[in-house]
Amino acid sequence: MTLTGFDPIFGQSQAIEWLCRAYLGDRMPHGLIFAGPVGVGKATTARALAALFLCQEPKSTSVCNGCGSCTALAAGNHPDYHLITKELIRTYDETGKSKGIDLSIKVIRPELVDAAGRKSSMGRGKVFIIKQAELMSVAAQNAMLKTLEEPPGRTLIVLLTDQPGSLLPTIRSRCQVVRFWPLANEIVLRELENRDIPRADAADAAAFADGSLGLALRWLKDGVIAHARELRQTVDQLLGGYGAADLPGWLKAVAEEYAQKQLERDELSSKDQATREGIGLYLHLMSQMFRRRLPPTSSYAELERLCSAIDAIARAEQYLDSNVNIALIFQQLAVTLEKVLSTPSSGTTAGLRSFDR
Ligand SMILES: [Zn+2]
Repeated sequence: MTLTGFDPIFGQSQAIEWLCRAYLGDRMPHGLIFAGPVGVGKATTARALAALFLCQEPKSTSVCNGCGSCTALAAGNHPDYHLITKELIRTYDETGKSKGIDLSIKVIRPELVDAAGRKSSMGRGKVFIIKQAELMSVAAQNAMLKTLEEPPGRTLIVLLTDQPGSLLPTIRSRCQVVRFWPLANEIVLRELENRDIPRADAADAAAFADGSLGLALRWLKDGVIAHARELRQTVDQLLGGYGAADLPGWLKAVAEEYAQKQLERDELSSKDQATREGIGLYLHLMSQMFRRRLPPTSSYAELERLCSAIDAIARAEQYLDSNVNIALIFQQLAVTLEKVLSTPSSGTTAGLRSFDR
């Protein structure tokens, strides 16, 4: 296997150009925050940057693919390349109670702080990539401040996150933020079709995933796109003033199916957490569907109806975060949606429906 560098990464030229300039000018900061949506190339870019940073014979901004560092990285056993994920908690918590919902200090201290203090094995420094950095606990973030400020030796620390605002200001101020943007719809569509996905599926996946190729691919595989189509029909029904009664049962079933897929992928993950993630995902999709029906010109009554529905979903999302009983959340949501949507505003609804297509 060889390393591919930045070439295959598309749609993020602004970020990559900035990184290449900083690298060539020897101005690479110790700490970087790659901020942007899930599935748009942050992790791939971080890995390509790490390869370049660690390569022993780089040519401009390309890796040599022949040195010890390139060979070790391609083989997946580079001693100076540290990928830090929440799942690493399993190495440190033998009680098995930590489900890896947050990124604990029990992981950050040994994997980042202590490891950064050791000498680089291959002589080109060390790279640390923290995935889902927004999940770092406050204690974990505080523990890494000094390392981020003054890492020993040639060190690069890259924090990947879709919620940079969740990081402590003290972390953000010690890092350079590099923005990653949602991909253009036609890029996601093209990449899906390049992977032999039928056009109708690709078009829906691109639309639902909102500029994230990673999510579009995962959702196609996990059956989320098929359910999102059902949800789109439900939203049509809700706007027609019926269908709310079936919503709780449907949401429960699809969220459980989603959780099942996640457990198949990683049997040690928490089922309850994965189910809540699934509910959050379908609530997000439903909210997106209502938002897309907000046309520029609309009757006031219709606007109010749509906004009330979006508010009701936002409340359900808040309850979900605060661990309210799931059945209760669904019940409340269905009742509220039925109430706010039961009086279709005359004349405009039929016209609005065509907006989402
Ligand atoms: Zn090399």
